[in-house]
Amino acid sequence: MVLPTEYFGTLAFDETSMKEYLPLDTYASLKKTIDEGLQLDIDIANVVARAMKDWAISKGCTHFTHWFQPLSGVTAEKHESFVSPAGEGKAIMEFSGKELVRGEPDASSFPSGGLRATFEARGYTAWDPTSFAFIKDRTLCIPTAFCSYGGEALDKKTPLLRSMDAINAQALRILKLFDPDTDVTCVRTSVGAEQEYFLVPKEMYDKRRDLIFTGRTLFGAKPPKGQELDDHYFGALKTQVEQFMKELDEELWKLGIFAKTEHNEAAPSQHELAPIYTQANIAADNNQLTMEMMQKIAKRHGLVCLLHEKPFKNVSGSGKHNNWSISTNTGINLLKPGKTPYDNAQFLLFLCAVIQAVDDYQDLLRISAATASNDHRLGSNEAPPAVISMFLGDELTSIIEALETNSHYDPMEKTQLKLGVDALPPLPKDNTDRNRTSPFAFTGNKFEFRMVGSSNSISDCNTFLNTAVAESLRQYADILENAEDFEKAFDELIRKTIREHKRIIFNGNNYDDAWIEEATKKRGLLNLKTTPDALERFLDRKNIELFERHHVYTRTEMKSRYAITLGNYCKTIRIEANVMIDMAQKEILPAVDEYLKSLCETGKAAGQFNLKRIPAHLEKLTSILSKLSDEIYESTEKLSYVLVKKFETGEVSEHAAYIRDEVIPAMNRLRLCCDEAETITAEKYWPYPTYASLLFGLQ
Ligand code: ADP
Ligand code: MG
Repeated sequence: MVLPTEYFGTLAFDETSMKEYLPLDTYASLKKTIDEGLQLDIDIANVVARAMKDWAISKGCTHFTHWFQPLSGVTAEKHESFVSPAGEGKAIMEFSGKELVRGEPDASSFPSGGLRATFEARGYTAWDPTSFAFIKDRTLCIPTAFCSYGGEALDKKTPLLRSMDAINAQALRILKLFDPDTDVTCVRTSVGAEQEYFLVPKEMYDKRRDLIFTGRTLFGAKPPKGQELDDHYFGALKTQVEQFMKELDEELWKLGIFAKTEHNEAAPSQHELAPIYTQANIAADNNQLTMEMMQKIAKRHGLVCLLHEKPFKNVSGSGKHNNWSISTNTGINLLKPGKTPYDNAQFLLFLCAVIQAVDDYQDLLRISAATASNDHRLGSNEAPPAVISMFLGDELTSIIEALETNSHYDPMEKTQLKLGVDALPPLPKDNTDRNRTSPFAFTGNKFEFRMVGSSNSISDCNTFLNTAVAESLRQYADILENAEDFEKAFDELIRKTIREHKRIIFNGNNYDDAWIEEATKKRGLLNLKTTPDALERFLDRKNIELFERHHVYTRTEMKSRYAITLGNYCKTIRIEANVMIDMAQKEILPAVDEYLKSLCETGKAAGQFNLKRIPAHLEKLTSILSKLSDEIYESTEKLSYVLVKKFETGEVSEHAAYIRDEVIPAMNRLRLCCDEAETITAEKYWPYPTYASLLFGLQ
């Protein structure tokens, strides 16, 4: 057996290959660029490009591509070959520093939300040296950012990198307050994204155009057995799944991605992969690549990997758990309670920064998970609700409460407070009682944001989170840097923050209706149930101010993102509605009619045999089915009618609200009668594989 250690990272231009292929001084410069985000000189880029090309060719590559994440959320690439003319009809393999550093994809068809009219100059891609280049399908892929010539970000990576700079700058200010001689030069956010997905047999998938066109089932009656027995979670893997996971792990390892745990999830046919955490932008790239590999490798095993947030009604959906922490280049996790009072005070300040950020920017966190597909999941008793709150665990919560109640500052209480900080115990790593219902949970040394959808890029949530926390830290640094008495100012700041933001802390059951009531009525927290509800807040003044202040998005970039997100919402649901109409008209209704016909014929035959009585169930069934078939017909008509309304001149928000209020309810009505018809139609007439065969069909 070849050990994973022998082939780990063989398809990534990682530190090992860099050391092998680069001259020592070039390696040192590149390393400095990677670690400290410094600009790379073009001469050095030329050397790196040559080395990368030699490495890639040695692995059988003939092409390279700038790999980027346009605002559509999926990755894009444009392949170019290394081959260049060398005169006399000969060719050489070339790759210059310029080609490495900058690319010009024909990007006019990527969404820009009005940022770049199609007739304007094309956007360009710029190499992100902090994320390793890798090989996919014999092509050297170079992770890049994608911008317009005006410098506006047209992708998800650029703002993420900017937000990492923002939190770095503010966190460094805080660290200097605690230790003016600190040797920390860089602070980075780390992310580990747990990825949930479904695997279904390919031959069943191919029979359902809803899955093919929309990634989810638009119809489907509840199977006789669902997930009520909880027998799938951590259950034994089926052979087909096991082989898939094995190959997936191997391919990811070759790419230098630390795939770590693979297991079954709550629903039948649902699984999860967790990588080992890494720097936020790399984690985002890795997650994108992981999703791509999952889909590709599934096909090799006769499977299809569904990354949709809610492929099956009445069955748990899939999400992504974004585990997030802040650490220094000296290896200290700033969200880990320390051993000394100073460490603990520092920890407390960072903790407060996150509490305040989550409270002040609840809307942004919700928006980072807002898509048409994820709306099915949030708040349906399986995923966190649409209300953002934060779980700290009982121990940390009581410490926070104790600190807050010393509300009046006097020397006597100062001693108490200091005692409080001194006594802050080092929390055992897994002290947290694993509240799985919380959208934002502290899990010992990191926060886990669980709202993100399984098909979402994790770039947005980390961009928002980094920036929101940078803002709390900025406010704290402004106060503390100018404080005459640091300890006094610190104590006041901590108390004030806890007092003003503790409403966001909730350790109870987030699935409970009583919590939603308390959250919205008593605590004044937001409950943004749908994507249009959430997006309405994106362009609020406080959000524009936040992103402009930290140079993460310009106002124009925000407007474009707003337009794209809402536009995608409308498009996604329109496509689904059209597929539903198609399926209902062309397959479901004919199937029901066919079955109806057979029932009638049976009845007729019974009459011909002069049976004393025609079986009563035939009459009942035909009556129910004929009523249902009319309902199917009428609901289809209604849905088509609703879809006719056009919004060419209107605001995208108006269109989205119409989709939410008119189109989705019409889709739900159509589904209801079709699913009911499925439950009483003989299986051989039904045109689609049932939920049971999709969910329990694997070997
Ligand atoms: P769970 O029980 O929720 O599956 P794990 O402890 O297995 O949690 O971790 C889940 C994810 O969190 C993994 O991707 C892991 O690498 C990541 N993780 C662990 N520590 C940190 C950290 N300090 N910062 C960011 N992510 C982390
Ligand atoms: Mg988790």
